[in-house]
Amino acid sequence: MTAEFTLLARDGAARRGRLVTAHGAIETPAFMPVGTAATVKAMRPEEVAATGAQIILANTYHLMLRPGAERIGRLGGLHRFMDWPGPILTDSGGFQVMSLAKLREIDERGVVFRSHLDGTRYELSPERSIEIQRLLDADITMVLDECTPFPATPEAARTSMELSLLWAERSKRAFQTRPGYALFGIVQGSVYGELRRRSAARLCEIGFDGYAVGGLAVGEGQETMFRVLDETVPALPAEHPRYLMGVGKPGDLLGAVMRGIDMFDCVLPTRSGRTAQAFTRGGTVNLRNARHQDDPRPLDAECQCPACTRFSRAYLHHLARSGEILGAMLLTQHNLRFYGDLMATMRAAIAQGRLAATAAALLERETAGDIPAL
Ligand SMILES: [Zn+2]
Repeated sequence: MTAEFTLLARDGAARRGRLVTAHGAIETPAFMPVGTAATVKAMRPEEVAATGAQIILANTYHLMLRPGAERIGRLGGLHRFMDWPGPILTDSGGFQVMSLAKLREIDERGVVFRSHLDGTRYELSPERSIEIQRLLDADITMVLDECTPFPATPEAARTSMELSLLWAERSKRAFQTRPGYALFGIVQGSVYGELRRRSAARLCEIGFDGYAVGGLAVGEGQETMFRVLDETVPALPAEHPRYLMGVGKPGDLLGAVMRGIDMFDCVLPTRSGRTAQAFTRGGTVNLRNARHQDDPRPLDAECQCPACTRFSRAYLHHLARSGEILGAMLLTQHNLRFYGDLMATMRAAIAQGRLAATAAALLERETAGDIPAL
């Protein structure tokens, strides 16, 4: 008995579901804010929860380097350490090892690398990644995989995908089954449908509590990403949650939910919030732009977040131009609220069987763009 997933409604390929973990339930489709170093940057935990987020993602690579998984374990686990009582998903560390660490050596046993912080040598194997995620007390643990670089030849993509399958088997053996705790496998195979289907079939044989689609949103473009989802998602078992890793923009989320994806994570809303980029119902708004300097209107009149209910565009523009910390805090909160509202809108639309019409209307407003002040 692990984390239980229940399908509540379907609308075409889209699903409305509920995943019950040791630290609470997640209503799906769900977006997971990224809390890289045991903090969603610029946000208190209660502010994150107020945006509608039900689960956050934390990064194994960053936490194993600093402050260390054993230390967090001794301090009672990640929920207690960062005072986030809800569900937490941790990645395996693989993606950051490949993208951040220095002097990597990779073979079947795992990865040996040097920390990007101080050059200390570390080893990350499938077994060690699972152990770290257990020390962190992650509700959802991810298998160690190799995120295939893009672009990759079919041969390189196959070799990488086969290595990830070996590691997935070892991750499954190392994972201790406990009530409310889940282990997710990760489908790889780059942009090649045949490789994706083989990866999905083998992961299903091994048997996981959920299935992630990895190696997308790496530069292939939305059209290719949607095509890969069309070729991959039908190969995943309907009774388990599906997680599209590292995605994405609002339009990506709409299209992926319509293709049967249940969970997402992305740094976009939080990172954009720190660079004065805001997501609104009328598309992306750059608050550094001078057109906002005399604008008394809210950033998004339909948003109930503090940035929109208490402050004007002119004030948010002033904070952004002055480099004030409050600007990053307010815009991060707004962007997460926008993503939270988008997911809630999709969940309601699926339950009512009108997701396609809802998505078309949202995309039409986004395309129409932000309406300038008179
Ligand atoms: Zn807002």
